[in-house]
Amino acid sequence: MASSRVRLVLHGGAGALPDRDYSRQIEHMHGLIEAGRDRLNAGAEAMDVVVETITQLEISGLYVAGRGASPNAAGAYELDASLMDGRSRRAGAVAGLQGFVSPIVAARAVMERTRHVILAGEGAGRFAAVQGLEAIADTQTWFTPAAPRGEFGPAARMGTVGCVALDQTGGLAAGTSTGGTFDKLPGRVGDTPVPGAGMWADETVAVSCTGEGEMFIRSAVGAQIAFRMRFGGQSLGEAAREALAEVGALAGEGGLIALSATGDIAMPFNSRGMKRAWLGPNGEIGSEAF
Ligand code: ASP
Repeated sequence: MASSRVRLVLHGGAGALPDRDYSRQIEHMHGLIEAGRDRLNAGAEAMDVVVETITQLEISGLYVAGRGASPNAAGAYELDASLMDGRSRRAGAVAGLQGFVSPIVAARAVMERTRHVILAGEGAGRFAAVQGLEAIADTQTWFTPAAPRGEFGPAARMGTVGCVALDQTGGLAAGTSTGGTFDKLPGRVGDTPVPGAGMWADETVAVSCTGEGEMFIRSAVGAQIAFRMRFGGQSLGEAAREALAEVGALAGEGGLIALSATGDIAMPFNSRGMKRAWLGPNGEIGSEAF
């Protein structure tokens, strides 16, 4: 039996094409929600469930993140990830990480084992190595791009994974992990590792975004949703919709998942689809791509 309090929402990226079959992703996401629900009902903390869920999304190779990430314009795999704990506002992130299996685990290590929030590039890699995080043995065979370059048109040049959770104590957490946008320039950093842009959690709301990161940074989507609620008195649904409308006004495409401390869920997108799954108030599970 699902507790009425816990909630869990995840996304598998906004890059969904109408003519493509996402049944594997839909089934996979459904299973992850079931597993996360059981963990939350057993008393697990939101942060632990967010990391466990994103780790599974990363290693599945089914999404443009972790193993399924696509290379940048120079052929290298530079991955971004971040996470945040709502009550404590502790946050951690890596940007342009190369050579490690789980960017979200590296982000957690930054949060827990340094006094910093974001580590980037070579420094992030050196830190991950010193921490003994699992390294990729052979980049050529490890990565199985979920959307190989050239397969899709411009509308599909994105993909990311993310998760937000509300635990039995009312604690919120959020996380996001990505390979970034297709053909990005070496060194490009998107919204994903930037708290307040592609990811945010505080006492009121947890947010994970997907889409054209530049526009999500320029709209400060994660923080904007929180501040619309806190200072503007908006509901979660209004805040999420209006923040995404600002991305749209900049001609940006994408979507987001958001979860409030009172258990409301919002999953707006202005892209053609957004792979997503959720555990709702009555314990019901949904999993969709469009
Ligand atoms: N937001 C990600 C980025 O810009 C990409 C995505 O969500 O598809 O790096």
